[in-house]
Amino acid sequence: MVFPHKCYYCTANGFNSTDESDRRVVTRHPNLPGYPGPADITFYGLEKQGMPRERKMKNDIEWN
Ligand SMILES: [Zn+2]
Repeated sequence: MVFPHKCYYCTANGFNSTDESDRRVVTRHPNLPGYPGPADITFYGLEKQGMPRERKMKNDIEWN
């Protein structure tokens, strides 16, 4: 499972599991998407973290 190692919305980082990153977003940023897609990243002005879901679908073929 791929998960972000730092919070998209604040300076929290060092997450070691999906559970940790999920809990952070749910408790600290309850109205924001925990796994932002390309549209969310553009809308909120987020910093990409190399997550597959951040990419547009037409790039799926390039995933490794
Ligand atoms: Zn945060």
